[in-house]
Formats: sequence, C-alpha cells, structure tokens
Amino acid sequence: MAHSGDKGRHRRRWWQRSPAPRAEGSLRGAPREVPREAERGVGTVTAPVVDRPQYTWKDFELDDERPRAQPNSPDTPDLGDGLRHCGRLERILHRQWDSRHEVPTPEVVRAVESLARLPDALKDKLADGLDGIYVGAGGVPDLDDMGYLRGAPLPSGRATWDVCAGAYGDRKIVVGDRPSPTPDVMMHEVGHALDDVDAPHGDWVSDSPEFAALYDRCVPMLASGFHLQSGDLGRKEFFADAFAAIVSRQRPALVDMLGGDTRMALDVMLFFNRRYGI
Ligand SMILES: [Zn+2]
Repeated sequence: MAHSGDKGRHRRRWWQRSPAPRAEGSLRGAPREVPREAERGVGTVTAPVVDRPQYTWKDFELDDERPRAQPNSPDTPDLGDGLRHCGRLERILHRQWDSRHEVPTPEVVRAVESLARLPDALKDKLADGLDGIYVGAGGVPDLDDMGYLRGAPLPSGRATWDVCAGAYGDRKIVVGDRPSPTPDVMMHEVGHALDDVDAPHGDWVSDSPEFAALYDRCVPMLASGFHLQSGDLGRKEFFADAFAAIVSRQRPALVDMLGGDTRMALDVMLFFNRRYGI
C-alpha cells in the first residue's frame, strides 16, 4: 500500500462487480447508515437497507507488502505483458505481481491496456482524484488490503466476495481476473470512479439533474435488471456500464443495454462525449 498511513478512511463505501447481475451496495452518501463500530473496524456490519451489502469489516494493516511490477518505459512498444506504460496513471497504478517470476493472465493484461488507452484528460482526472488502482490475479479479496472481505457474503447472499471481478470504493479501484459479464471490468470501475471524483462536493455525476433525466428516459428501454435496481443503484450501474461500452468502443453493447434503441443510445453517447470527450 502506498498510503498505509491513512488506511482507516478507505473502509466505508464499496461498489462491487460480481459475475452475475445482482444488487450492488453503496454506502456513499449515506454514511449515517454505517454503524460507528464499523467505522472503527470491529464486528460485522449489516447495512439496514435491502440489497445493501453485508460486510465483514475487519480493519487491520497488512503486514506484507504486495509485489508491484514496474511499467515498461513510455516509448516501449506494446508487448502484451501487462507492463504497458499508462502515463500519469503510473503514479497510482499498482500491478500486484512479481514480473520476474509471474506472467499476468490475459484478463489482467487487458485491464492494464484499457487504462493505457484512456484519453489523457481522463488519465489526469483519475490520477488527481484517486488514491490507487490495483490490478492482479484473483478476485477482489486477493488484491490490495481487501483480504478482510474474503468469504464475506455478497449483497445477493449467493456467493462471496472472492468471486468479484472488480470493485470501486473510496477513491480506489481494484480489478482482478475473475470472469464477469461486463465487457471491460476495468472500464466499468473507471466509470464508477469518474462518477465519483468528477462531481463537486462529494456528489456523483450520475446524481446530477442532467444524467438523472437521461436515465429516466432510458428506464423504459433498459434490458437488464442490473440497471433497474432501486434507489440510485441502477442509475449508477448504468452510468458505469454505459461509460465502459462507449470508451471501449463497444457501442453495440450500449444499444443492447437499451433494448436496441439506437436513438436513445446516441443520446447517452452524446452525454459522455460532451462530458469526457469519448
Ligand atoms: Zn458496478
């Protein structure tokens, strides 16, 4: 961990992406719902709202430093080794493997390459707004300091965090190499991150009147229950998935999300184009 000195504040809000569409939980914007004991890191947190996650919330410091593979130089051609230079993101990017002994899986390589391809303006926003991006093998609890989630139930109760492909919370992105229905897990989590860091005063872009109105127009077309979750969850997941589809140039995936409505898809693309130049 590059910032072990302030770990305590990285423990309150999580988004998780799991292999099947299911409820995701957010405590962001609702910190009062987190029992004080949880913030101090003892006991088990049971969020009071249906579809919010249950956490096993042990706040401890890792005593081992994870390996951190170093990037190739910026002018090295793409070698498909997961070490492609990611520009300004290198400051916060943790490749959690030992490049002397380990070859990253194709999913991990793809996650790094997606980051490398981001427009510079978005790299700048992320480098300025995030504390870390962690990439490596396994599910979420294998990475960074999330060992405390191992075996903890997912919001759905059907699986555990071990199978999660990625997560975003408290200005950190964590992406492993577990299978996921999202075409690009890293870009999905980057979508959540931008939703967070690109809005002023602790707000979310997806809560803005402009995006909320756009989402409301999309709702009748939305094909997946994942994007129709109650409260702001469905809207936040749609924001992340729409961003991922557009930035990774998988526009047919966006049209599919919208039940084949190409006109609506164009409106969504226009929003992200205006805001992020993608
Ligand atoms: Zn998500």
